[in-house]
Amino acid sequence: MEKWLETAKQYDAEDHIGNYKNEFYIGENLYYMDGNSLGLMSRRAEASVLDVLDDWKTLGIDGWTEGERPWFYMSERIGELMAGLIGADKGSVLAANSTTVNIHQAVRTLYRPTGSRYKVIVDELNFPSDIYAVQAVLDDYGRGDALLKAESRDGHTLETEDIIGLMDESVAMVFLPSILYRSGQILDMERLTEAAHEKGIIIGFDLCHSIGAIPHELKDWGVDFAVWCTYKHLNGGPGSVAGLYVHPGHHRKHASLKGWFGNNKETQFDMDHAFDPAEDISQYQIGTPHILSMAPLLGALEIFNDVGIAKVREKSLRLTGLMLEVLDAEFKEYGIEIVTPRGADARGGHVLIGHEHAAGITAALKSRGVIPDFRAPGYVRIAPVALYNSFEDVYHTLRILKEIMDDGTYKKFGNQRGVVA
Ligand SMILES: *Cc1c(COP(=O)(O)O)cnc(C)c1O
Repeated sequence: MEKWLETAKQYDAEDHIGNYKNEFYIGENLYYMDGNSLGLMSRRAEASVLDVLDDWKTLGIDGWTEGERPWFYMSERIGELMAGLIGADKGSVLAANSTTVNIHQAVRTLYRPTGSRYKVIVDELNFPSDIYAVQAVLDDYGRGDALLKAESRDGHTLETEDIIGLMDESVAMVFLPSILYRSGQILDMERLTEAAHEKGIIIGFDLCHSIGAIPHELKDWGVDFAVWCTYKHLNGGPGSVAGLYVHPGHHRKHASLKGWFGNNKETQFDMDHAFDPAEDISQYQIGTPHILSMAPLLGALEIFNDVGIAKVREKSLRLTGLMLEVLDAEFKEYGIEIVTPRGADARGGHVLIGHEHAAGITAALKSRGVIPDFRAPGYVRIAPVALYNSFEDVYHTLRILKEIMDDGTYKKFGNQRGVVA
């Protein structure tokens, strides 16, 4: 195992963005491998929160329009900071609501069923909230039976051709994750979008696990809409405000879930009962934006705009590449299954391993300072994050994993998940 420490040290020496680690708060002797659940706090995110608090302290109500970061325009401002990460124009990206609310908003706005075209393709591996939201919209339309789930052949991944095979004239919409939250598989968004559009189907993606981890070209691909959270790879803090993209070609349809912050800003304070929708992405806001939950993003996103997503992805692939190489070489005898697809085009920013005692392994790792997360029924997700994990962190994570497998300490921990796993 030791020889990998030399490899890791060499990779760290060649790493051009390794210094960004110093911008983050990381506990002593902690190997934080959970940035795809909750990204760590950076000094810049902390500073931007304090700046916004200071605006509240000193400006009171005038903070809405005065100061360096007027709250009235903050949703659009943060949207601009995220535009490069998804490959979209500035006026088509917004920070608003939560991911789940944005799914309700986008799906309800763009789902326009007819007698013969009414089905929505999702997949059987997606995160439950996404399915609940789409199902709820269909139920409200009296089309509860219209959910069509793409099936997985192996229980972990999806085949592009299987999904495309479901696209026919009865399908109105496709809504899929960009990266599957468990296996970390990347779906071919470009190809799926092309296939959907050939059949006249609207297509959207949930970017929760891909934003801040891989580059996207949503505008070039022609994707109709996308949603994402900002507390995973984007490091916006617990419950930070989510993101939404709607292709400009759809803006004239006007948001379904209306509220006064979706109104044209010029007339919003006329307080007229006739809704005057903003003509751009702003119309998808609903009520007063959650300013304090957006504030960390001002700092956190600055880091991404400094580094550039291409460099983040390049390092991320090397981190997961090293992890896969060591797992292959050193972990043959432990009954560990490596679930994540191998190819650089196929794997996102985390690695999923399976073991019958996965909950116990997760608990044992945590007791030794390694923070991964457990996913029922028998999987451990490990996410080495380019901005704040080193190659040495990957080495130590796997060294500790090997130690607990060798000495069997994982068996001393119950194989039960916690309330938040
Ligand atoms: C993290 C995640 C969510 C979370 O949605 P919230 O509304 O922020 O709770 C939803 N969908 C996917 C695929 C996720 O990974």
